[in-house]
Amino acid sequence: MPTRPEKRKRPWKTEKLAHQRAIDMSWFYNDRRWRRFSKAYKQRHPLCCDCEDEGVSTPTQVTDHIVRYLDGGTGFDLDDLKDEDFKPRCKRHHDARSGRQAHGK
Ligand SMILES: [Zn+2]
Repeated sequence: MPTRPEKRKRPWKTEKLAHQRAIDMSWFYNDRRWRRFSKAYKQRHPLCCDCEDEGVSTPTQVTDHIVRYLDGGTGFDLDDLKDEDFKPRCKRHHDARSGRQAHGK
């Protein structure tokens, strides 16, 4: 078994990953299991949680991960999607939350 003499760390690599903005999540969001879960979730949680805090009733439009994938969030196991990993949000609140992640929508 050959050993690697060079054990240099590459801090820039990690840094680059952490700051990567447009990570491709289509493998997740295009999956039927996710789509089915998300649809059912919105039926179980019909109102945006942040709007409710503001005393407004707005329909849920987005099944929002509480912790993003990039931040090591749970709720990305397509075989084990659980309500507790998500928050129901309207588009406005979802966009306000993920606004820092480029995307320009
Ligand atoms: Zn809202």
